[in-house]
Amino acid sequence: MTQYVLAPPPVPIVPVLGEDVVYPVRRILCVGRNYAAHRAEMGGDDRDPPFFFAKPADAIVTPGRDVAFPSMTADLHHEIELVVALGQGGADVPIDQALSLVLGYAVGFDLTRRDLQAAAKDKGHPWDASKGFDQSAPISAIRRWTGPAPQGRISATVNSQPRQDAVVSDMIWNVAEIIAQASRLWTLAPGDLIFTGTPEGVGPIARGDHVAGAVEGVGELSFKVI
Ligand code: MN
Repeated sequence: MTQYVLAPPPVPIVPVLGEDVVYPVRRILCVGRNYAAHRAEMGGDDRDPPFFFAKPADAIVTPGRDVAFPSMTADLHHEIELVVALGQGGADVPIDQALSLVLGYAVGFDLTRRDLQAAAKDKGHPWDASKGFDQSAPISAIRRWTGPAPQGRISATVNSQPRQDAVVSDMIWNVAEIIAQASRLWTLAPGDLIFTGTPEGVGPIARGDHVAGAVEGVGELSFKVI
């Protein structure tokens, strides 16, 4: 039996809606610039295809928990996103088989240190510090799901004021295309979460703010920034 030199880190978990089981998170992939109107507000144009970045699995914040305002930023942004939870893995998965890997969907926020991201873009530096920081991935419970992916309204409010309001069907890469594309770059595995990108309307949040988001048919998520 393996003897560890120190205690293995705990496995990050997400509740499964209506069940007494939890989902173990292996890693978090994220899609950037997957809605045309958000790509435009970020200064991109229609020649820029979506792309992937990652957050560590322990960036997850489970439902009902507050989010600590992160260090080293003066411009923390909300990004509401549909999250895909994989129940099976694979490599080079064809688009027409991709949805069979899905266990369910959740609602998540890809919290972003926008000032650090802008500096990284200017210098051609990696995005890890702007995207993959502690508590940067608040998430709802996972709703089990089979069949066609969610297509409905995706929205976010800050202190009950509307900030983001769009439809998932506006995504440039749909869920099946995202899974297929990711599986060409990495061998996907059960426990992989994929944040599928945010629509337009991202903006700053501050200590004391109440942030809420929803994806039609999937669920809701809210947290306080402390
Ligand atoms: Mn995002």
